Amino acid sequence: MSAQTKGEKLFRGIAVSAGICRGKILVLDRAQHVIVKRQLAEAETAVEVGRFEKALVQTRQQISEVQRKLIENMGTKEGDIFEAHLLMLEDRMLVDEVIRTIQEQKVNAESAFHAVSERYAAALAAVDDEYLRERANDMRDLTSRVLDNLLQVRSQVDLRKITEPCILVGHDLSPSMTAQLDKKMVLGFATDIGGKTSHTAIIARSLGIPAVVGLKTASEEFETGDYALLDGYNGTVVVNPTDQTLFEYGQLSRIKASLEEKLQEIQKQPAVTLDGKFIHLSANIEDQNDIEAVIANGAEGVGLFRTEFLFISRDSLPTEEDQYKVYRQVAAALKPHPVIIRTLDLGGDKFASHLQLAQEMNPFLGWRAIRFCLAQPELFRTQLRAILRASAEGNVKLMYPMISGLDELNQANALVEACKAELRAEKIPFDEKLDIGAMVEIPSAALIAETLAKRLKFFSIGSNDLIQYTLAADRTNEKVSHLYEPTHPAILRLIKMTVEAAHQHGIWTGVCGEIAGDPVLAPLLIGLGVDELSAAPPVVPQVKYIVRRLKITEAQELAAFALQCESPSEIYARCQKLARDTAPSLFDSKT
Ligand code: PEP
Ligand code: MG
Repeated sequence: MSAQTKGEKLFRGIAVSAGICRGKILVLDRAQHVIVKRQLAEAETAVEVGRFEKALVQTRQQISEVQRKLIENMGTKEGDIFEAHLLMLEDRMLVDEVIRTIQEQKVNAESAFHAVSERYAAALAAVDDEYLRERANDMRDLTSRVLDNLLQVRSQVDLRKITEPCILVGHDLSPSMTAQLDKKMVLGFATDIGGKTSHTAIIARSLGIPAVVGLKTASEEFETGDYALLDGYNGTVVVNPTDQTLFEYGQLSRIKASLEEKLQEIQKQPAVTLDGKFIHLSANIEDQNDIEAVIANGAEGVGLFRTEFLFISRDSLPTEEDQYKVYRQVAAALKPHPVIIRTLDLGGDKFASHLQLAQEMNPFLGWRAIRFCLAQPELFRTQLRAILRASAEGNVKLMYPMISGLDELNQANALVEACKAELRAEKIPFDEKLDIGAMVEIPSAALIAETLAKRLKFFSIGSNDLIQYTLAADRTNEKVSHLYEPTHPAILRLIKMTVEAAHQHGIWTGVCGEIAGDPVLAPLLIGLGVDELSAAPPVVPQVKYIVRRLKITEAQELAAFALQCESPSEIYARCQKLARDTAPSLFDSKT
């Protein structure tokens, strides 16, 4: 059916990365295969066995093809990943058991195969051997491929093989998946689940790729190959858009383009309010490929370098040298501006599959970030040494994530001191005066900000986590996204408390969570006394635009109102009013 005859369909989700794109949809994963158990007549069993055998042959051919291409492009090691799949396909025990089930129980092939393979996978998953447990995943992967063929569902997409720019649609796109994409081939992202601050959304924003999450059923309803328009400003996806819709969005794109020009004009200007208050505007980055975007968007350095992406976009741990090269490159390129390198924040929704960490019931409350690093001192020291060495080449600052109390800070500082002593002994240069700061993203850290401030040179408020932990609302769960309120009075009080403690001890406070890049909320943060805002490079110009039209007195009045107001929505409405009055062109283009 052509796009026109199928008819336009509008889907609403959560806008997480601004921009409009249009193009063909590529559905990455079906949520689940629907397996209907069918009782067969005697005569049908042979047909079902035939279908099963044909699906096995097809699957073998497909896997061999993927394997061949992988070896061609990346070498034997990568190609070997599929060896286990092929061996399983040839496992006579499994194949015979499925055939027997079809013949004896007289059930259809997909139902028999699914039941048997699930039993195999469950048995493997229960074994007390890491290697075999891994094979359970292979088994499930393989099952899914065979079922694709039996049910004639389009086969799973190999992300590295995308050859045409497209809008990626998935139930969820894990950060490790998105980190490995060929970015030139991705026009936009659309997912069933997720929230504004899930890491997939953050990556989309930092790549400047429009994205809509929380679409609930997109991955089931959208068809690969359909044409769609994705609106990352308003959180909608229009499948098979009519000419009228395309025309309206064309206008919106033109309005946005003229705004882009205005933003470009202030690229080199400082972020100073009309009454002369300077706000340090910096950028959040994931790796050295973001350097260009930091400069192009007029950010003054890096307020948050999320180093975990160096760990999850590869198959093994990066060495000290690997890390040093990257940190040094960023520091040298952005000198004299500061580059705040945050130590590893793995866990939560960021995993490195090669580390094979055990699954946890509550990953966001679990073995994450500084907790993980302090328990893995060798891994941590490797990173600390790399950061220290890079500090000789630029204005590097070091920042710990997820500090919840003084003990963690003391332990981390002790490791830094040990690394410094080693480097001194080895006569390797580093910045002796390197500033160390901490993220304030756990309520306990805000509540003991005074204690921490005495021992640090800066704070950076990680509002993404601070909000989820304060309000007990998972940042990645769209079902509780209505509770995830940045203007909740509890959040504002914690920010205020942090800023005050910092200023009393003569140190500065930034915000590097996603609210720092929201022009509606930035004035409130400035009014609360925040000194620095760090945001994804593509949104930095908007924040600068509003700062340059704002008076600090207006921001302070807004903050004073917010601190005595009891209603998050009233506070948000006031923020919106000030932002719209101050910089109408940032907002006058909603459809
Ligand atoms: C935060 O929590 O606000 C933050 C900036 O860190 P991350 O999003 O990487 O958890
Ligand atoms: Mg965080």
